[in-house]
Amino acid sequence: MAGLYIHIPFCVSKCLYCDFYSIPVSEGVLDEYTSLLLMEIGLHDRNRPIDTVYFGGGTPSLLQPFHVLKILERVQRTFHLSASPEVSLEANPESINTGRLQDYRDSGVNRLSLGVQSLQDEELRALRRNHTREVSLKALSAARQVFENLSVDIIYGIPGQTPESLHRTLLEILEFSPEHISAYELTIHKGTEFHTMQSGGELTMPDEQTVEEMFLLIHETLTGAGYEHYEISNFARPGHRCRHNMNYWLMGPYIGVGPSAHSFSDKRRWENHRDIGDWAKAIRRGLRPIATERQLSDRDLLIERLMLGLRTDIGIERDRLKCTEKVEMLIQNGHLKCEGSRLKLTPRGMLLSNRITVELLEGIWC
Ligand code: SF4
Repeated sequence: MAGLYIHIPFCVSKCLYCDFYSIPVSEGVLDEYTSLLLMEIGLHDRNRPIDTVYFGGGTPSLLQPFHVLKILERVQRTFHLSASPEVSLEANPESINTGRLQDYRDSGVNRLSLGVQSLQDEELRALRRNHTREVSLKALSAARQVFENLSVDIIYGIPGQTPESLHRTLLEILEFSPEHISAYELTIHKGTEFHTMQSGGELTMPDEQTVEEMFLLIHETLTGAGYEHYEISNFARPGHRCRHNMNYWLMGPYIGVGPSAHSFSDKRRWENHRDIGDWAKAIRRGLRPIATERQLSDRDLLIERLMLGLRTDIGIERDRLKCTEKVEMLIQNGHLKCEGSRLKLTPRGMLLSNRITVELLEGIWC
C-alpha cells in the first residue's frame, strides 16, 4: 500500500523562518490549482493501492471543503483506496472554525494536523505567524469537537522562548488530549528572513544547551502524559501514530502530487518541478511534471533504511553493523540502547542523531 501526498503550496504570508516552497494565495488561484491537481492525479497508474492521503503545505486549510471533496473523489476514482484510509489535512488556526472543520470531515478528512506552534503571543509574533494564542485555543476547541484524530504541531527553540514558557504551552495543549503531537526544533535556513536577521545580529536564539533542555523537557512531559516518543519529532497516544509518516520512515512507496512533491516507488525517487509554472505547463501538455528522478542502488536503499530506522523507535538491526566497538561505546555513553536484536537511539542520542547516524553508517562497512 502506498501513501499519497498532496501539496498545497499557498500561504497568506511568509513566516520568518520558513524555507518551504510557498506562494502568496490570490483570488481564484485555488480553483485553478485544484483542476490541475485533478489532472495530475489522473496521470498516475490506475488502481495503485493507497492507504493514506495527506494534504500538506503551505496551508492546505486555505482550500475550501468542496476543493478537498473534489480531490478525494478523484483519488477514489483513480486509485484503489483502502477500506479505512487515513486522510490528514494540515490546518492553520486562523483559517478554521467548527463549521469549516465539519465540512472537511464530511468531505472525507479524518485526521487534522493543527499548526499551533506556540501558545505564547510573543513567540508567535517572533515567528510572524498569522494567529494569536486566543485564536489557537478556539481552533483547538473546534478541532476537538469535530475530529477524533487530532495532531498538534509545536516549535521549540523560538527566539525569546524559555523552557518554562514551552512547558506552559505543552500543558495547555495536553488539556485538549490530542492523539498526536509533533515538536520541531526551529532551525535557521539560508534564504529565510531569520537567516538575514541572524547574519545582521538582529536575532537572538536560545543557546544550544537550552534547546537540548527543551527537547528533553518535551520528551519527559509527553511520555509522562502517556505518549509514545516514536520518532525524533513525533509523539502519539498508543494506536495513533501517523500512518502516512510511518510509511515514509519504513521506506514504503509514496506518490506526491503538486509542485516540488517527492515520490518513491520501485527503488526510484523522483521530484516534481518546484516552480508552479513549470509544473502546470507539463500537466497541461498531459505529461507527468517530473523534474528529477534517480534509481537507487541496493547500497543507497540500505543507507536510507538505516538512517530512517534510527529516527524511529523501531531502530535498526544490530547485525547490520560491523563496528561493535563503536556501538558499545555509544551504548555506554547512553546514546544508544539495544533491545533484542535492534539498536535504538535514547532521548539523549536523538539530540545527536545526525552525528550518531554518520558514525553508525561508517560501521556498516568497517
Ligand atoms: S504557514 Fe507554514 S508553509 Fe506557510 S509560510 Fe508559514 S511556515 Fe511556511
